[in-house]
Parts: sequence; structure tokens; C-alpha cells
Amino acid sequence: MPGPHALADRHEAVVIGAGVAGIHQIKELTDRGIDAVVIESGADLGGTWFWNRYPGARFDSESYSYGYSWATEILETWHWKEHFSGQPENLRYLQTVADTYDLRRFMHFDCHVESLVWNDDATEWTVTLTDGRTIRTPIVITAIGLLTVPTPPRYPGVERFTGRSFHTHDWPAEPLDLSELRVAVIGTGATGIQVIGEIQDKVAELHVFQRRPNWSAPLNNAPISPAEMDEIRDRYDEIFEVCARTPGGFVHEPDRRGFWEVTEAERFELWDRLYDEPGFAIWLQNFVEIFIDEEANRIFSDYIAERIRQRVDDPTVAEKLIPTDHGFGYQRVPMETNYFEAYNRPNVHLVDVSETPIVEITETGIATTDAHREFDLIVYATGFDAITGAFDKIHVEGVDGVTLRDKWRDDPATFMGVMTHGFPNLLMVAGPQSGNASTNFPRGIETGVAWLTGLLDHARAHGITRIEATEEAERAWVDHVKQMYEMMLLRKAKGWFTGYNSNVEGHEEGTMRHLIYNGGSPKYQAKLDAITESGYEGVTLTGPRH
Ligand code: NAP
Repeated sequence: MPGPHALADRHEAVVIGAGVAGIHQIKELTDRGIDAVVIESGADLGGTWFWNRYPGARFDSESYSYGYSWATEILETWHWKEHFSGQPENLRYLQTVADTYDLRRFMHFDCHVESLVWNDDATEWTVTLTDGRTIRTPIVITAIGLLTVPTPPRYPGVERFTGRSFHTHDWPAEPLDLSELRVAVIGTGATGIQVIGEIQDKVAELHVFQRRPNWSAPLNNAPISPAEMDEIRDRYDEIFEVCARTPGGFVHEPDRRGFWEVTEAERFELWDRLYDEPGFAIWLQNFVEIFIDEEANRIFSDYIAERIRQRVDDPTVAEKLIPTDHGFGYQRVPMETNYFEAYNRPNVHLVDVSETPIVEITETGIATTDAHREFDLIVYATGFDAITGAFDKIHVEGVDGVTLRDKWRDDPATFMGVMTHGFPNLLMVAGPQSGNASTNFPRGIETGVAWLTGLLDHARAHGITRIEATEEAERAWVDHVKQMYEMMLLRKAKGWFTGYNSNVEGHEEGTMRHLIYNGGSPKYQAKLDAITESGYEGVTLTGPRH
């Protein structure tokens, strides 16, 4: 096996990030004999699945729909043990892929990119690492993930707390005995809901600090037996085909009957069935109207609210757990396991911080307007600076010294989520406004990586050295992205999809950022294909200067 690929002062391509996207991208580049390296800030590969080790961290996509479709040796042998596999196995899967295809030798860990500076005369980027090393390269490909920059709250006193505290993203790798601990969890998004479901019966006391409740429904996870896995292996082609034709790249296809065409009894029959089915069935095998028609969504949300009331013993607590500011499925639905039942336990307490806000973190606990509670451990499940956050951490300087941070300050602007005008040869896998972001991630990633790699093949075949989206094409794409937001009830949700984050300056309430493309994967794929067929309309491709 060849030894590690040294980090030189020049490479033909630099990929940033060794998560799901970076692993696939480096495979494609090095298969073509391109001298490329991956720069990764973590101590190992895996991205999201390397970092997020909190109890309960697991897929919301069916495990068998998550693997790379090109990693056929692994598809033939890998046994997913659960329908929705947990973090340790997910990380092991990615490590196995990297080892099987001998990709680690191109990866450099514990390397933090400080800046990317474009030199238009030399047609190359200078990548500077925080340890001072620099790499010159004509092509930078970002594979820096969607939710990689954790955002702890900005309460006074956070640093004063003398017990243990961390954001879920930084949950320690070593085992943590919770059995004697008084634990606080702040945040009830998808992460908080997973943590709470998992630790409720493993802690001495648990206080959940909830600002706004989220809609959530049962994951209905189950083990996969060897016989079932054999049967799944036989169906991989079909599984990937289904994913390719659904808007989010999942195995769930919508119910094509019109919401208003069926009777109320037929709706209830569908919902009763879906509530007990695995994963996103309850969300994505539903009537399409729940995404776009406020009244249809309200009727369905009322149904889910009733299911919550049936599961929570204390009616006052149940009402607090039912969202009133948005409908079910406006945004990606947190999937739960025994989440609502947690509140029936004597050791679990809900603190509604919309009524009694957190004032400060003290040396020993959390002070709200009505009480001070003492804790041994505070867990911040307070979310991420989504998508643009990872770009903002790097000083990216394009043509004429313009920085990406300035360009995207109010709202990002990209062409297809793969490039941005003024930053030539900066290619993005699942960048802002791409159709790959809110999908079953590997399915979306395969679309993005295939398209970008095709573009690089084209450039190499035609002696093209400079690739840049035109301003007009970018404007048209941004307009289209905004139109798609207008069509979806999602626009009314206050969450990361709309760029809201109370812990990030400038992203607080009242701001709206267009971070993803909501047109669905098939439509996005068709648009990418059309661009390729047109000879890359919307992209200025130029050869070397003479
Ligand atoms: P999130 O959805 O942004 O939720 C953050 C939670 O923290 C919200 O309940 C928020 O309340 C609360 N919060 C934030 N700042 C707070 C503050 N200062 N004081 C009190 N509460 C505060 O973040 P997340 O749960 O980490 O999930 C992010 C995304 O990651 C999800 O949408 C999903 O796409 C993905 N994810 C997926 C899985 C999976 O199953 N595979 C698991 C976890 C996450 P407000 O709503 O009031 O702001």
C-alpha cells in the first residue's frame, strides 16, 4: 500500500473537510490521478459522525439508504445492525470506506484552514493553515458540511460554571457516567430530542430548558437481522433508484392522492399507519399539501398534537410540548424514541424558558427569572451556525480583495450552490443554496461530487484553468431559490433553514437567509444536467493567459 501523500507547498487540488462529502470527492479526484489532498480540522475523518458523539446520535435516514452507492465492495458485505444506525457504527462505516479505498493517505488531520486567498495573475489559491503552512493550488473544493460550527448560547456566566458543560457537538469521546448527575439540557431541536430520549433513565435528575417546542414523531427504529440485511442487499439498486426520484433523496415517496380529495377517515387511516412506520414516513409519505397548504398542514398538525397529548400524562406539560408557532413538517422533523414519555418520569422536569427566561449561568447552575437550579452537567443542545458558518470561519478573499464573509453577510449568493461569482476555482460540495443540503446527505453529495468532477474533467480536457460563475447566472439562481422558499410553508419556520440562530450576531429573529434550494433533488439534478449539456452556460471558462 502506498505511504501517506505528503503535504507539499503545491497541489493540483485541495479538498477541505474529510466528512461524507470530502471522502467521496478525494476518491474521485485521486482515481483520475489528480494530485489532491484533504485538509481536515478533526483528529480523524468522519465529519459530523466524528464530532457528534452525544448519546442518542443516530441517522434519521434509513441506514441502508445512507451508504455510498459507488462503494460496491462495502455494499456487498456491510451489515447495518439497525434501521437507523447510531454514531459509532456510522463512523466505523466511513472509516471502512476510507480504508478499503486507501484514501487516508491523502488526508491531513488536525489541520485548520485560516485563509484562502485568490491570486488572479497566477490563477491559484493560497491556502494558509493556522500553523503557518501554506499550499498553493489552482482548485479548492469545500466539503465543510452544513452543521459544523456549534453555537453555544450567549448567556452571561457561561464560563463561570464550575461543573462540567459542553455543546452536544463537543460531547467527550470517553464514556461519561451520568447516573449520579443532575443534568440540564438546553435546547429541544433534533439533537436535544435525541439526547433527552437517550439519557432520561440514565441520569439522577434531568431538567430540560425549552424555549420553543419542536414537532417530533417516533423514529420506530429496529434491529436488522442478517436475513433482512441479505434481502436489503438484493434491493440496493431499487433503493437508490427510489431515493433518486424523491425530493429529499429518502426511501419515502409522497402519497399522490390529493389531501382534499380523500375523506377525513382516509386521512386518519393513513396517519395512523404512518405514525407507526419507520423514519420520515410520517413526514414524507404524507400528502404533499402539508408542505404548501396552511389549512391542510393545520389539520395534520392537530392530529400529531393529539398523539402527543395521548403520550404525556400531565396535560399542562403536554400543551407545552406542542408547537403553536409553526406546523408539523414545515422544517426537517426531529425523530424521537420515547421522547414524550420522558416527561412522565419523576426525575425529568420541563422548564419553559419562554415563560421564565434564563437570566444567567451561575457557578453552580442556571438562574431563570423564577428560580435557581443547581447542576453537575449542563448540555448545550443549542444548534449550529448553519451552512455559511463554516465559510465565515475562514478568511476567503477572492478577486479584487473581496471577502466571502462580506459578500454573504446578509444572505449568501451562489450559482447552483456550487460556486460563487468573484471567487474563481472555488468549488463547493453542498454549498449554500445547493439542492444537496437538506437531503439524505450522501444521496445529495453523490449528485454534487459527480457534477463538480465532471466539470473538472471538462476543464482538463479543454485546457481550462479558470472557472467562475457569471454574475447574471448567480442572480437568476438566487431569485429562483427565493421563489422556492416563497412556495413552501418552510419560509414561516424560525430555524436554521431560514438562517435563524439567536446565538449568532446578525442571525437573530427578524432576519431571513436563503440557505438551501427547496426545489427537490430531481429538479436540481435536471438543472445541473442541463448546464452540463449546454456546455456550462452560466459559467465563464477560460484557458491560460498568454
Ligand atoms: P436546532 O434545530 O437549531 O435546535 C436548537 C435548539 O436549541 C432549539 O430548541 C432552540 O430553541 C434551542 N436554543 C438555541 N439557543 C438557545 C438559547 N440561547 N436559549 C435557549 N434555547 C436555545 O439544532 P439541533 O437540534 O442541533 O439540530 C440542527 C439540525 O441538525 C437539525 O435540523 C437536523 O437537520 C440535524 N440533526 C439531525 C439529526 C439526525 O437525526 N440525523 C440529529 C440531530 C441534528 P428555539 O427553537 O427557540 O431557537
